[in-house]
Amino acid sequence: MRAKKSLGQHFLMHRQTAERIAAAAGITKSDTVLEIGPGTGMLTKSLLARAKQVIAIEADTELAGALRELFSKELASGALVLLAQDVRAFDSATINTPYLLVANIPYYLTGMIVRTFLESAHRPTSMTLLVQKEVAERVARSKKESLLSLAVKAYGTPQYVFTVPRGAFTPAPAVDSAVLSITHIQNPFKNEEEGRRFFSLIHAGFAHKRKRLAKNLEMVLEKGFVLRALSDARIPKDARAEDVALVAWLRLAAISSGAHVSEV
Ligand code: SAM
Repeated sequence: MRAKKSLGQHFLMHRQTAERIAAAAGITKSDTVLEIGPGTGMLTKSLLARAKQVIAIEADTELAGALRELFSKELASGALVLLAQDVRAFDSATINTPYLLVANIPYYLTGMIVRTFLESAHRPTSMTLLVQKEVAERVARSKKESLLSLAVKAYGTPQYVFTVPRGAFTPAPAVDSAVLSITHIQNPFKNEEEGRRFFSLIHAGFAHKRKRLAKNLEMVLEKGFVLRALSDARIPKDARAEDVALVAWLRLAAISSGAHVSEV
């Protein structure tokens, strides 16, 4: 079967890599695992061997058909539930139990998958994701922050687990990959309003990369309030968004409570 570029298809070639990813997720026999993009089923097999149940969502109907044959026994027993649909139309509230998210995700959906599942009302207890190496580094290793690293750190603890070279996939992608885990996932916000304020502030802060944070914040906060808010949040007035740690952003969001924060 030809890999479809538009669906970000790069299939794992070796059982050993799938086993390492499944092992890193710390799955036990009482766990439900959600897998996005099972593809040819390499990782699915390793997940099924460890979990009580795997729910797999595959957008490619041709692959879904092949998976139905390959895993006919597991589908019949209920150990595997296969949904032939786009993950963007999936509602995690339909999983009626705690679950872990483990997947070799299509790279074009990385940001969307991480943000959507962290922010959903029924978020996974942990995520173990094969992503582009550069993304895993930016989220878990870099001293510079980004929109994605701050969103991840607000909800959980990211860790760079191990590198998977591009040669481990067919077809080989242009860059290396890495396993990124996010554990201790919880909602850090007291209410929806606080979460909205935090995301409005970080979106504004990163809107123009070359501008200083203070200037960017004028898009969502009153000009006269910005310098006072930065000072109260113990953020230098000439800081750039990428140099401000999560705790300081949370302080800034708390300080801006009561102030009018516009949507970006
Ligand atoms: N898990 C397999 C493996 O490790 O060999 C395949 C990984 S491949 C990088 C990504 C998979 O996600 C493909 O099977 C692709 O068809 C599927 N996919 C792409 N876009 C999707 C979407 N919007 N919803 C669900 N699955 C999608």
